[in-house]
Amino acid sequence: MDIHEYQAKELLANFGVPVARGGVAYTAEQAMFRAEEIGGSRWVVKAQIHSGARGKAGGVKLCASEHEVRLAAGELLGRRLVTHQTGPAGKVVHRIYVEEAASIEREVYLGFVLDRREERVCVVAAPQGGMEIEEIAQRSPETILREVIEPAVGMQPFQAREIAYGLGLKPSEVNQAVKALLGAYTAFRDLDATMVEINPLAVTSAGKVLALDAKMTFDDNALFRRPGVSELRDYAEEDPRDAEASKYGLSYIALDGSIGCIVNGAGLAMATMDMIKQAGGEPANFLDIGGGASPERVAAAFQLVLSDPRVRVVLVNIFAGINRCDWVAQGIVKAATDIGVPVPVVARLAGTNMQQGRAILRESGLRIITADTLADAASKAVAALSQHSADGPALVTSATRGAA
Ligand code: GDP
Ligand code: MN
Repeated sequence: MDIHEYQAKELLANFGVPVARGGVAYTAEQAMFRAEEIGGSRWVVKAQIHSGARGKAGGVKLCASEHEVRLAAGELLGRRLVTHQTGPAGKVVHRIYVEEAASIEREVYLGFVLDRREERVCVVAAPQGGMEIEEIAQRSPETILREVIEPAVGMQPFQAREIAYGLGLKPSEVNQAVKALLGAYTAFRDLDATMVEINPLAVTSAGKVLALDAKMTFDDNALFRRPGVSELRDYAEEDPRDAEASKYGLSYIALDGSIGCIVNGAGLAMATMDMIKQAGGEPANFLDIGGGASPERVAAAFQLVLSDPRVRVVLVNIFAGINRCDWVAQGIVKAATDIGVPVPVVARLAGTNMQQGRAILRESGLRIITADTLADAASKAVAALSQHSADGPALVTSATRGAA
């Protein structure tokens, strides 16, 4: 789970990471009042979306009066911001953050990641901040500093000092940077983060070290024990289909193909996608309906898959262990009855209650293409694809029920 910059800054500040004074706003008016509260004479107005590279996309605006803050906020709120991290669809700005502007002398890069090879938290730092780590890694990989942290003892002050000196900070700045580094590490560990990025960590002309930008990602599997973090979830930032899927306990990932997949188990879902490709088709999605899927959950899976207009065939592949084929079959019938399924359906049901499941499909009167094996199902789905485009639509809908 990702959170917004202002939320990450608030969390990090609780662990002693120095940040500028700021406040979140949902309207231009509110932004102006925030500026007034913060005081001073220069502010930055920053679009709060789950993406970096906002600066280059016009999402970070320096303002020299409260009036300018109001204008900048008005311009950003409601706007769709396209950064090179959001994809072409961009993200709509619903919140902005107003912060006291800093006059920047230097920008360095600071990141905490999980290094899977080391099986450790790893600190990554670079003296040229402001740009993305991928860009730093391309332009000047030799400048990147790394420290691996021993989990039994945590980050040691000497490690933080080594990084601070390695970044070329002045002695008066080193102690501040050490505090920021140790604070960010503790936040990472204590809040079950999987990534913390402070880019840039800035040195101001007054010699103060400040986290000017902050990004945090959390381990979804640990959210249950971090209510203070999980309440920061912003559903507006998520793909509505993902949110809908998680409501029904489905794992759904949209892809670009035309064959919708409804499968139980992540491994079988992957295998199904492979078999579709092998048969010459392209999967439209990854969807794992999980174990013990009720007819309702199966119907919800259909609704989700069919919400993608590119889907021209649905392939149901169930190997029922905990699942029951009769329930899955009931789900297919329920989907056809309740919402209509305007594309061909290929079903391969195996395992628990297989005979009952197949009987339900047979007796439903729906024109479902059945298959015995995964390979058979995949090639029938690909064949249905070409037939479907040749013969026109609607093999199975609530209207044609009983026609076969
Ligand atoms: P990002 O583009 O999404 O990574 O947003 P950042 O928060 O990192 O801001 C991008 C850039 O805007 C920074 O690298 C700074 O150069 C600039 N910036 C951000 N905050 C301030 C500020 O308080 N003062 C000044 N002068 N520049 C700022
Ligand atoms: Mn940044």
